[in-house]
Amino acid sequence: MKISDVRVIVTCPGRNYVLIKILTDEGVYGVGDATLNGRELAVVAALQEHLAPLLIGRDPDRVEDAWQYLFRGAYWRGGPVLMTALAGVDMALWDIKGKVAGRPVYSLLGGRCREAVRAYTHCGGKDFREVEDRVREAMEAGFTVIRAQVAVPGCKGLYGVGGGREAALATWPGAPGGVPLPMQEEFEPGPYLRTVPALFEHLRANLGDEIDLFHDVHERLTPIQAARLAKELEPYHLFFLEDPLRPEHKESFRVVRQASVTPLAMGELFTTRWDCLPLLSEQLIDFIRCDLSHIGGITEARKIAVLAETFHVQTAWHGPGDISPVAHAANVHVDLAIPNFGVQEQVAFSEQVKEVIPGGPALERGFLNVRDVPGLGTDVNEDLAKKHPYKPAYLPVARRADGSVHDW
Ligand SMILES: [Mg+2]
Repeated sequence: MKISDVRVIVTCPGRNYVLIKILTDEGVYGVGDATLNGRELAVVAALQEHLAPLLIGRDPDRVEDAWQYLFRGAYWRGGPVLMTALAGVDMALWDIKGKVAGRPVYSLLGGRCREAVRAYTHCGGKDFREVEDRVREAMEAGFTVIRAQVAVPGCKGLYGVGGGREAALATWPGAPGGVPLPMQEEFEPGPYLRTVPALFEHLRANLGDEIDLFHDVHERLTPIQAARLAKELEPYHLFFLEDPLRPEHKESFRVVRQASVTPLAMGELFTTRWDCLPLLSEQLIDFIRCDLSHIGGITEARKIAVLAETFHVQTAWHGPGDISPVAHAANVHVDLAIPNFGVQEQVAFSEQVKEVIPGGPALERGFLNVRDVPGLGTDVNEDLAKKHPYKPAYLPVARRADGSVHDW
């Protein structure tokens, strides 16, 4: 069997997704997700101009060899654009491998370690009472792990308020020439650091101790600020504190770790296993939460999971709405097959997204599963995809009150 064609499909059924479809001379094809929110077309160019020509004529069964060929063989390697492109190729090749074998991808990864995958949902609100109401609704829907965010007094923008909607198509149309620009938000660490412990004090007082709650810092704090927050959250027994620091200087996690026993999660901005390594080997985190679409796909995620298992770290793969149902399916296939799975982020995709990209994981009472069909179980409807053309859009940008750029 040989790869005969590579198609890159860009579609916006509500938000932008980049899919890669790898076709073979025997009619079997695979679909992978190569979406990089806000930089989609850079990945499209990497795939169309540089990776696709290298794939034609190759044996699709040789997934690891293709991965090494595209990563190390290129000399220039790594970074979110190239690793997202590589992830798309990798997922599509695993999809083909599963279809040829007649087995779901999780079966090829070692088989089920569990019957279903424990998932979490996002709850946000303008005040503590509204967050509490959203958490109660999520608990009634069967969720046992919940991310809680709240609007911070004096901080302008969507962050924390909209639950899963906050990172949707957030653009200002008013730029010169009508070109959309990122929405701007305002963030100040002082009010944030005073508000978050009070939120969890409120939630524990009103909801009790049984529900697993956690909070996403979104890389917005300095090490000593994050250490303070982790310490002050200790009485509320968080499931984890997510992404407290920027991704660049991993050793800064020592400051947070030494200050507190609040479990820590990190990794959605990482692009290779070597980003994860110091956090794992020093046991500075408890959950590794890479994005399969941005770290080179299933092949790299499985290696990271094995490394993490060695150091008693569990997985919590990134699963937001800005990666497609194909990547969400890949998450669940890996989750089912690894012993050190922790929890899985998920979102409810719109019916429009599900029509264009069908077959994603199904949610039932807070647990995800994939269908027992060969491959990843997902697909892309190319005709429908064409009806939803690409729309330029960006994640929001955060600035401090003095106007300086901050992490979003
Ligand atoms: Mg996050």
